[in-house]
Amino acid sequence: MAKAELMDYEKALEQFEVVIGLEVHVELNTNTKMFCGCANVFGNEPNTNVCPICIGLPGSLPAVNKRAVESAISIGLALGCSIAPTGRFARKNYFYPDLAKNFQTSQYDEPIAFEGGIDIEVPSGNVYTIDIERAHMEEDAGKLTHVGGATGRIQGAEYSLVDYNRAGVPLIEIVTKPVYGAGAEAPELAAAYVRTIREIVKGLNVSDAKMERGNVRCDANVSLRLHGAEKLGTRTETKNVNSLRSIERAVRYEIQRQAAILAKGGTIIQETRHWHEDKGTTSAGRPKSDADDYRYFPEPDLVPVQPSLELIEKLRAALPEKPADRRKRLQAEWAFADLEFRDVVNAGLLDQIEEAVAAGATAQAARKWYTGEIARLANAEDKDISELPLTPAHVAELAALVEAGKLNDRLAREVLTYVLAGEGSPAQIVVARGLEVVNDDGALIAAIDAALASQPDVLDAIREGRMQAAGAVIGAVMKAMKGSADAARVRELLIEKANA
Ligand SMILES: [Zn+2]
Repeated sequence: MAKAELMDYEKALEQFEVVIGLEVHVELNTNTKMFCGCANVFGNEPNTNVCPICIGLPGSLPAVNKRAVESAISIGLALGCSIAPTGRFARKNYFYPDLAKNFQTSQYDEPIAFEGGIDIEVPSGNVYTIDIERAHMEEDAGKLTHVGGATGRIQGAEYSLVDYNRAGVPLIEIVTKPVYGAGAEAPELAAAYVRTIREIVKGLNVSDAKMERGNVRCDANVSLRLHGAEKLGTRTETKNVNSLRSIERAVRYEIQRQAAILAKGGTIIQETRHWHEDKGTTSAGRPKSDADDYRYFPEPDLVPVQPSLELIEKLRAALPEKPADRRKRLQAEWAFADLEFRDVVNAGLLDQIEEAVAAGATAQAARKWYTGEIARLANAEDKDISELPLTPAHVAELAALVEAGKLNDRLAREVLTYVLAGEGSPAQIVVARGLEVVNDDGALIAAIDAALASQPDVLDAIREGRMQAAGAVIGAVMKAMKGSADAARVRELLIEKANA
């Protein structure tokens, strides 16, 4: 396929206004599925968590999961939505092998939550209000694995396997109204919005919120129109983008791609698009008209959901701190400068630092390790920090070892690589590998004497105040002791020796 032409980003924004819309699916962490008693567990053997209800055998009758309804209400309230006093489920009819029932049980014109709004801060510090159109309950589909092709897609595959363990897992779909006015910050706003949704559902403890497992998935709608135009442009919907970085990249890519087409007088096709992480591009999926006919009709096997006012108020009272309030509180508690704090938020590190502090680290030490060496290591492996086999307790332990003078920075970085390799906690690794800083004067003086033997002029240089000459000896000592010497102590001993 020919590579799509892209317009320079700045130029695209000069010519066009960007309008985005976001649909986020949140998989709930209920014990059981949405309409049956099957376990809702990730990673079990295929087709082990299935029953007549979730694979839609004739005569089976669904029943609504109470906890899923409560979770949906809590999410709706956290997003500032109104909660419908009564709402029905609907059948969304479509035929595809990932859904054995041939319809998805969803909500159509009666969503449980509607008309909300939430403030989102982007990396520049600007705050945008995103209006929420609705949040509704539905069930997830099964998982198809296409085997035999080069790409893992259905095209070119020899056969496909289907796993219905995920079929019927409770989902909340959160739909925004069109978002105007973010301009060049639209990609960052999209990512920051999804980050906030993750924080909310994690704070509510209603989802594991792991994007890499598909617990939170985002479909990003993007359209462009000329500045001042009334009518919205034709939109595309990039499906199932599963990391925050990818959301930002996918929105930016669509802006540049659509701008190049429109500037040449072309038309945008209303369609779904697939995001390709490796190439950083999107490609056409299926055409999608607004009149897609799913033949929705009310689900006859389920009674309407009618949450009592008492339940709604109870859930409202139990809402956790709002993400924006939590940030203000944490910044004050940690005494971070605005820029330091923004870096931490944008890197998605609030949870980790909070936990490392709870495990005994100072906030500044936790920040330094997470935004520095740990971020570098994650980047090198092209992973998110949360995917590294490293806990906040490890970081607190590492910081404590440095604080106590048992590790210098270089050794601590080395220890970190062994933690990632699964060798244990920092303290265990220091013992097992004998990595502790040597500040035993006897050993250091012996190493200094050995280094001075090959550069005897250094002592004279130090006596004459040319301190840079000390560097060569300190370097030689560090090298001889494989980095485990306490460099500051070596320097002191060297100066003492020169002035003795
Ligand atoms: Zn089931």
